[in-house]
Amino acid sequence: MHVDQATREALHARLRFYRELGIGEFYRRSVEGEAWAELEAAIAPVHQAVQAEPPANAAQPALIPELVQEPEIAPRKPFPAPPAPSAPVPPEQHFAALKLIREEIGDCTRCALAKGRNKLVFGDGDPNAKLMFVGEGPGADEDASGLPFVGRGGQLLNNMIAAMGLKREQVYIANVVKCRPPNNRTPEPDEAHTCSPFLFQQIDVVRPQIIVALGQTAVTYLTGEKRPLSAWRGTVHPLRGTKLIVTYHPAFLLRDPNQKKHAWADLQIAMRELGLKQPERK
Ligand code: URA
Repeated sequence: MHVDQATREALHARLRFYRELGIGEFYRRSVEGEAWAELEAAIAPVHQAVQAEPPANAAQPALIPELVQEPEIAPRKPFPAPPAPSAPVPPEQHFAALKLIREEIGDCTRCALAKGRNKLVFGDGDPNAKLMFVGEGPGADEDASGLPFVGRGGQLLNNMIAAMGLKREQVYIANVVKCRPPNNRTPEPDEAHTCSPFLFQQIDVVRPQIIVALGQTAVTYLTGEKRPLSAWRGTVHPLRGTKLIVTYHPAFLLRDPNQKKHAWADLQIAMRELGLKQPERK
């Protein structure tokens, strides 16, 4: 079909307009007879507007002035660089080194989460663990007990650990933030950035062979990169001289049990890396 120059320009103008609105996907289909006449009538005003457009080098009037005048959204703050990994601590000193980190945290008031907490949840498990799990932050049960993953999500995590043929006491468990966010909301970036240096110190002391990040918050603050979980899962990533594997957060698995098989596939990657055999079913 022949499309004359003026119509072509009118169509370009309309496409530009849609693009400014954020609409970018278009499909072509042929338009016949009457429908074509209707289309021509519809684009006539655009056609006229294009003809009235100032030359390309003149200042362009805003197509949608009220949108153009919106204040710009502030760019996302870059993540602060994580502290450089510290020197290895001899295995027999891991317990004492973790105790020192706990003492350094003290009765913390470094961020707003301190106001709402009952107990600070430092971490739990074997200071020489080969496997470490990192969650987001304490919930109500953890806030009451001072231990990570003791609520319903914790029960599921215990089952996941058992399915790997391990006992909970053999792994180390910690969170991105050590105090419960109000109503279990996701920690704010400033809260996570204030607290995560202590998590990095814990990782550097325990020096596990494998870290399993449980969910988006954990992987985001461990790596300093915001990518969807799907971009992380399924492969092993280097992290602070150890290896990072990413899976779903137990709370998500409680909401959508269909995803458990995918989490199990992630844990099997961890088992392969650790040289663990799948335990026999009883
Ligand atoms: N969810 C977490 O991310 N961590 C916990 O310790 C408990 C629930």
